[in-house]
Amino acid sequence: MTDLQPSIERLVLIGIGLIGGSLARALKRVKAVDQVIGVARSRTSGDLALDLGVIDSFQSDAGEAVRGASVVVVATPLRSFPGLFQAIAENLPGDALITDVGSVKQYVIDAARRHLPGHLDRFVPGHPIAGTERSGIGASFAELFEQRHVVLTPLPENSDAAVRAISDMWNATGADVINMDPAYHDQILAATSHLPHVIAYSLVRCLAEHPQRDAMFEFAAGGFYDFTRIASSDPVMWRDICMTNREPILAAIDEFKSRLDDIIGAVKEDDGELLRQYFTDAKRARDSGLDGKKKK
Ligand code: NAP
Repeated sequence: MTDLQPSIERLVLIGIGLIGGSLARALKRVKAVDQVIGVARSRTSGDLALDLGVIDSFQSDAGEAVRGASVVVVATPLRSFPGLFQAIAENLPGDALITDVGSVKQYVIDAARRHLPGHLDRFVPGHPIAGTERSGIGASFAELFEQRHVVLTPLPENSDAAVRAISDMWNATGADVINMDPAYHDQILAATSHLPHVIAYSLVRCLAEHPQRDAMFEFAAGGFYDFTRIASSDPVMWRDICMTNREPILAAIDEFKSRLDDIIGAVKEDDGELLRQYFTDAKRARDSGLDGKKKK
């Protein structure tokens, strides 16, 4: 966290779930924001966010909520972005900063170019590399972004001041901000985050649809639960990620399938040496490459 906190007068948070709620909590904790206006689909989420003190007022209409905004953060599932951009375009003040937390960046940028062409100097796309398998405002907490990366993928049109202000906002949450090319971001995240989620969902289904399902779950070891924790994540969010980052995810799945083929071949051929070497290389890569980098 920086000593000098940014002062956001009126933050409009479209989406007050795990990520949006945690951002509001983190900014309020260090007094970096005066007023938070929350937008969600359901009144239930709005009431809970008000009760928890995460937002100061609630509106269900995003277009109305952005009037007078200093900063707008879009934190809803990805496929709702184009419709929301359209809805806010008319009332978004010319001097308001806008950013998002979507897990895929090229899709968001394309939607912003289409629906917010007059605001591109002040639209700074972002993605906090932080989360849990839980969702909703009740799962949010102020410490979520501490010592985590937040990736910004600035547009060529962005002013330096806009990028600096969004960067300062995230720094105030305790995050470490880095800038990245959007296509590179989508390719890296497809391999490191999207592929593991696809595999975890598939593995759970593999056991859930097995004729001996009950026995399978009864005797599943701790490793199975560790490995599949992320399969408890929100299905709508992961549907949207798969549908908005198609090519990089398909490439990552293909790459993974060829690794499974290596194992299938070695097992069929009874090639113990190849299996030992394969597992040894993977263990060495994990032990050396990921040590100290594990986040949760
Ligand atoms: P979440 O906890 O499910 O919250 C989503 C919020 O968006 C809820 O307040 C929901 O309102 C609202 N919402 C959904 N559709 C909407 C619509 N059409 N119009 C207005 N509001 C709508 O989701 P989250 O985990 O915070 O994820 C939000 C975004 O962050 C996603 O784009 C995701 O890719 C990104 N992200 C997630 C993670 C993670 O680990 N979860 C990490 C990094 C980035 P209701 O409560 O009324 O349904």
